[in-house]
Amino acid sequence: MLLEGKSAIITGGVRGIGRGIAEAFCKEGANVVLVYRSNDEAAEATRAALAAYGTGVELVKGDVASMETAKEAVARCKETFGSVDILVNNAGITKDKLLLKMSDEDFGQVVDINLKGSFNFLQAAGSVMMKQRHGAIINMASISGVMGNPGQVNYSASKAGVIGMTKAAAKELGRRHIRVNAIAPGFIETDMTAALTDDQKEAAAKNIGLGRLGQPEDIANCAVFLASDMSDYITGQVIGVDGGLII
Ligand code: NAD
Repeated sequence: MLLEGKSAIITGGVRGIGRGIAEAFCKEGANVVLVYRSNDEAAEATRAALAAYGTGVELVKGDVASMETAKEAVARCKETFGSVDILVNNAGITKDKLLLKMSDEDFGQVVDINLKGSFNFLQAAGSVMMKQRHGAIINMASISGVMGNPGQVNYSASKAGVIGMTKAAAKELGRRHIRVNAIAPGFIETDMTAALTDDQKEAAAKNIGLGRLGQPEDIANCAVFLASDMSDYITGQVIGVDGGLII
């Protein structure tokens, strides 16, 4: 198993892409700490489903925009499993509006959760990983942060910020054998894209080289690779998992 005995923190880990990553990690032998904001039912259902793999599953409830949540998750992971080997900064939101209709709040909330939230966990987990002298960090970016997307000035800015943060942290932490990479998903079928109509999905699929929207497992497979020793010489990279949407 690729992640046997390793411990991972996954933010937004009880739904969508995060849940897919949690399942793939447990399948590969990892213990996981799943951070979620409010949905106790989804959290308990995820814990029950992951129990089948026989690895440890801890739940931490809190907002990633708060440094306290990040510190709590890191402390829980270390106390329960003995180390923090992997961090997946996955939690994220959209609040799409055209530029001239976007409120301060729409902009601030998206940046607070997507960018500042990722920073909080990067710093809290980074502190433990520096002492351990190893770690793998995966930040969830987006094609919107690479190429920009109309109606998503806030989201595109937050994800471009995540990419910059990934590269800077990779340079800073590499000597301690901490690798920091980002995944830039394309269109993945989750609650985040559920609002799209079938026509919109079909139109989106026409621009995708592989001709289909992605599934959480497509992202999870890449996350397992980036979290494992298979990617031991890869850091500071942004891996597009978008079916060939950007080529
Ligand atoms: P989703 O809405 O299904 O899940 C997001 C998760 O993040 C949820 O579990 C939610 O509870 C959690 N979350 C949101 N705000 C939080 C907060 N303040 N504190 C704690 N948890 C919080 O979305 P998804 O599609 O699974 O997206 C996961 C990540 O992938 C996001 O960062 C998103 O931006 C990114 N992404 C998704 C797509 C896509 O097409 N679905 C494309 C590119 C990037």
